[in-house]
Amino acid sequence: METERLYEQDSHLVWWEATVLACETIIDGYRVVLDRTAFFPEGGGQLSDGGTVGMVQVLETREREGCIYHFTKEPVPVGERLECCLDWPRRLDHMQQHTGEHILSWAFWSLFGVENTGFHMGRELVTIDLSRPVTQEEMDAAEDLANRNIWENHPIRCYTATQAEVEKLTLRKKTEKIAGALRIVEIEEGDICTCCGTHVNHTGEVGMVKLLRQEHTKGGSRVVFLCGGRALRDYGRKNQVAMEAGAALSVKEEEIPEGIRRLKGEIAAQGAALREKGRMLTGFIAQELLANLPAGGRMGAVVLTCQPDLDAKEAKLLLNRLVETPKTAAVILYQTPGKEGGEGRVCYLLGKAADSPADCKYLCEILNGLYNGKGGGKANFAQGSGKLLPNWQETAEALRKML
Ligand SMILES: [Zn+2]
Repeated sequence: METERLYEQDSHLVWWEATVLACETIIDGYRVVLDRTAFFPEGGGQLSDGGTVGMVQVLETREREGCIYHFTKEPVPVGERLECCLDWPRRLDHMQQHTGEHILSWAFWSLFGVENTGFHMGRELVTIDLSRPVTQEEMDAAEDLANRNIWENHPIRCYTATQAEVEKLTLRKKTEKIAGALRIVEIEEGDICTCCGTHVNHTGEVGMVKLLRQEHTKGGSRVVFLCGGRALRDYGRKNQVAMEAGAALSVKEEEIPEGIRRLKGEIAAQGAALREKGRMLTGFIAQELLANLPAGGRMGAVVLTCQPDLDAKEAKLLLNRLVETPKTAAVILYQTPGKEGGEGRVCYLLGKAADSPADCKYLCEILNGLYNGKGGGKANFAQGSGKLLPNWQETAEALRKML
């Protein structure tokens, strides 16, 4: 079934009448064939159109073996002549990105001889693949030339040409098609190439092109960019982020990076001061505990202490200080807060001086039993954690009685 492709003659056609030639049931809806359509089927990197046929919404349009199918959720009556309407904001967005891609690719090619080897239009971002990585200066120059070409508002013509006519043109991209007429898209004082997509009538309709970044690919690079309305919305979002970041840091927009660096420096300095205080604090706690060192039984002198205010690093510091004392072992219990509102844990660290008769692994197993915990180690060092009971400090007294 041959469909007249109205979008090839007029990319700005929004309303038209068409006769429904077929309406087939498929798994999740219907596919409709019209005698004439302005809905562009996905192709050449450009996304497909949507809109309405009669009262029924067209979600996507695809071409299969030369036939254009309109995908709908509801059926349309075969044989009827219906009014069709294109989703114009969606089409304009696609044409801005697609025509902008022509202009940007031409800019890279004409300035630096870098060729476009691929194009992808997503719902949010647009990319072109280039034949080699480009420098930031080349990115800036291509962006500048592309935007000048847009602001000069050159007319864009789409026409079919014979092979003989095509040979006289300086095409940016050589086509793979070797026979028959070719569809040419020609921008005055700009890009000329073969293309089946839809394009705006004047470059000014693209609005602007903004390069976001370059990603290195195998043997080349991928440039991410946005055109027209997408670039404007992206600018709006980034402006909002910059305003909020500036307000949070109490600095002007251009001072945000420096503000963040300063803040990171302050946090690092505070962290270092806090670690030093932690070292001093654990020193004092160790002194006090060692002053009241119990005589001990068969395990020798064992310091058993609950330290609810110490964190893991401080507990380790304290343990190291305690076991510096000959013939001494230490059992330190502390607590950790639960992650994302979950339950916290009671943690235990056990260590001993080389000449202490204590067995850290054995003591850790007793703590595992008391706290329904998991942990283990060797005779000279062990660690574990268990359920954070409300009375976790009193529970530890059961171990003290065994020492
Ligand atoms: Zn095109």
